[in-house]
Amino acid sequence: MAAPESLAERLAAVDAGIAEAARAAGRDPAELTRIVVTKFHPASLVRELADLGVRDVGENRHQEAVAKAAEVADDRLAWHFVGQLQSNKARAVRGYAATVHSVDRASLVDALGIDDGREVGVFLEIDLSGEPGRGGVAPEGAEELAERVLAKPGLQLLGVMGVAPLGKEPRPAFARLRDVSDRIRALHPAATAISAGMSGDYADAIAEGATHLRIGTAITGKRPPRA
Ligand SMILES: *Cc1c(COP(=O)(O)O)cnc(C)c1O
Repeated sequence: MAAPESLAERLAAVDAGIAEAARAAGRDPAELTRIVVTKFHPASLVRELADLGVRDVGENRHQEAVAKAAEVADDRLAWHFVGQLQSNKARAVRGYAATVHSVDRASLVDALGIDDGREVGVFLEIDLSGEPGRGGVAPEGAEELAERVLAKPGLQLLGVMGVAPLGKEPRPAFARLRDVSDRIRALHPAATAISAGMSGDYADAIAEGATHLRIGTAITGKRPPRA
C-alpha cells in the first residue's frame, strides 16, 4: 500500500492501526488517548489537526510550545508537554499545558507543584534504557517521586511515561514500564495512565497497557528542520 498522502489520510491510517492493536490486545480503543506530537511544525498544522477532530497535541520544547499555543489559541485543544523540562521553565509551562509527561526529578516536582488555582496532570517519566543521561527516573525511584507529587499543590498524578530505548525490542521495555505502573497504582489507585508508544512502536505499547500514545511523524509527516 502506498504511504498516505494527506494529513487526514495519515491520521485515519494511524487511528485504524491503533484500533487494530487495541482489539488484538483485547482492549477497547475508546480507552486510548492519541496525542499528536506537533514539534517543529507550524501553528497552521495544529489548526488543521484541530479541524480534523484532534484534541490532544504534544510539544517537547517550552519556547516553541508557548508560542504555538498562543498562536493557535484554540480552547478545544489540550497541550501535552512531553520533552525534557528545565525547572526554571516549569511555572511557565503551567500557563498552557494540561499535562506534563516528563516529570523525572524532585527539583522539577517542586518547581511545577505550585498553588495557582489550576491542576496540571503529571506523568512520571521512567528511564527504560538503564543508560545515564537519557532522562527519566530509575524505576526504583518512582515511588519516592510519586509521593513527592502527591504532597504538592496544583498537580494531579496521572501515571507513568516511558520511551523505548533506541535499537532494542520495545516490548520488554514497555513491560517494565507496566510493572512500574502497577507499583504506582498500588500507592495511588487513580494513577492509572501509561504514556507510551510513538510512531514506530505504538502497537507494542498498546499490548503492554499504554493509555496515552504520543505519535508524531506517522501523522504529521517528516518534521521540518528545526528553526
Ligand atoms: C517527538 C516525540 C514523540 C513522537 O515521535 P515520533 O517518532 O515522531 O512519533 C513522542 N514522544 C516524545 C517524548 C517525543 O519527543
